[in-house]
Amino acid sequence: MQGMSRASKKAKANQDPNARSIDEVGERDGWRCWLCDEPVDADRSVNDDLGPSVDSRVTKAKSKTKSRSQGVPLEPRLAHRACNTGKGARQPEIAWPDELFVADPAVIITSVERLSRKGGREAMGRCPTEPDAEAAAAWLLDRVSRLEPSLECTTSIEPGGGQYLLLLHSGK
Ligand SMILES: [Zn+2]
Repeated sequence: MQGMSRASKKAKANQDPNARSIDEVGERDGWRCWLCDEPVDADRSVNDDLGPSVDSRVTKAKSKTKSRSQGVPLEPRLAHRACNTGKGARQPEIAWPDELFVADPAVIITSVERLSRKGGREAMGRCPTEPDAEAAAAWLLDRVSRLEPSLECTTSIEPGGGQYLLLLHSGK
């Protein structure tokens, strides 16, 4: 792979199906990386670490249950090239922000994937106070709305054992 100038990338976009799909996927995802949630510059070279790339969304959870999830088309998502290639060795992780107090945080992408597949509810973590749980719930709903725009979900908070359990629900 060698560096591609901006001009050649634009020219390529007209014939190369991969380049075209980056533009399509980028437009649809609002030029935001689905893994790290940061903006992606559409004009950067596709060979740049911060340049756009298309992630075909194969995760461990999905590949393990391949037989069951066959027929579910893999949805291409926009990612930074570095975020996309970094995922090879491990499952992509959506990080909980440091300012939230969440104990035993769930792996967001795994929970969201299960909800997309079969609905139900997922325990997302435990918070020390109700306001902490509400802050975590608000952040989570916002994050999931970009991570999996087609998933309609709600949150609930269940007090118990001096803590507040944050749950994510989908009616699917
Ligand atoms: Zn990224």
